[in-house]
Amino acid sequence: MSGEEIELVRETFASNWIAPLGPNVDAFEQEFAARVQTKHAVALSSGTAALHLALRGLNLQPGDEVICSSLTFSASVNPVLYERATPVFVDSEESSWNMDPALLAEAVSAGIKRGKKPRAVILVHLYGQSADIDPIAAVCARQGIPLIEDAAEALGATYKGRAPGTFGDCGIYSFNGNKIITTSGGGMLGSDNKALIDKARFWATQARDPAPHYEHSEVGFNYRMSNVLAAIGRGQLRVLGDRVNARRRNCAYYQKAFKDLPGVAFMPEADYGRSTRWLTCLTIDPTIAETNREKVRLALERENIEARPVWKPMHLQPIFKDCLCFGGGVSSRLFENGLCLPSGSNLSSKDLDRVIKVFRRSFIST
Ligand SMILES: *Cc1c(COP(=O)(O)O)cnc(C)c1O
Repeated sequence: MSGEEIELVRETFASNWIAPLGPNVDAFEQEFAARVQTKHAVALSSGTAALHLALRGLNLQPGDEVICSSLTFSASVNPVLYERATPVFVDSEESSWNMDPALLAEAVSAGIKRGKKPRAVILVHLYGQSADIDPIAAVCARQGIPLIEDAAEALGATYKGRAPGTFGDCGIYSFNGNKIITTSGGGMLGSDNKALIDKARFWATQARDPAPHYEHSEVGFNYRMSNVLAAIGRGQLRVLGDRVNARRRNCAYYQKAFKDLPGVAFMPEADYGRSTRWLTCLTIDPTIAETNREKVRLALERENIEARPVWKPMHLQPIFKDCLCFGGGVSSRLFENGLCLPSGSNLSSKDLDRVIKVFRRSFIST
């Protein structure tokens, strides 16, 4: 927290507006939309809820296929199952770790040939870095397939000067506790399409039809954000730029410290944009390094330093074992060799030095 949030929360308590919805929610939506340059936004209880409502708008039928990035967190895909549709996975490209546009084109063609034109593409922007959106949006546009951007990890990033999440039909964002800015838990759905956002807002507030009594003709959800949490979000939004800079500083610090270590390669930063380096991720090539990801991770764990493997790809997850995947070797290797280092925006250089010391020691003594 920056200090700004507590003032806004104090004002909220003073007004006694402790409820879902309220003036902070409206203001947070407007300030957020202005920050990412989208026309409309609706604040929700989570990023997962935002993705669920985005899919809800597509009226999916059982057996419909939705293309998803394989290398991601399961929340990028679970809402496809909520809507009884079937995910089809696409592997990453080496250069950005995000969805490979050529493999996406292949997956779309193959789907059309099977008589199953994908109903949507959910494109993830991983670890603070935008995917290469233009060629992916072009594939979608050619076939009239809606593009949903999962920018939960990429708030504050840019793609060709604009915010990822604003290129497709809609974008989802998360303010979970581990994200670059947080409301403890929360999310946002953004779009230039007013009808889509209005509908999401309606579904998120129990689908209450306009009437003085409670009238319902559709299934509703309780997905709105609390007015108290929106106050936190407003304060956090003001320091987003600082948070991005702090995360990038962490990454640069690690990069400098591990420059001489053989077999260590950081997640590349694609030249089309600016990554937030939400997490500093690297791979350790065991054929060069004479150690491996797991040995290094365990060495850090022994010193009470939490580092985690890169996301386990969805096509390797038990729950998705029957789903199709186009490619798979890149994300499998990134999972095998990839490590996410401590990356919080509040890390001091002393904290970073401690991580670096243990990392280097484990690396060289093996
Ligand atoms: C965190 C995250 C989500 C889900 O956001 P919540 O607010 O936690 O529901 C979705 N996709 C990705 C890629 C995420 O990292």
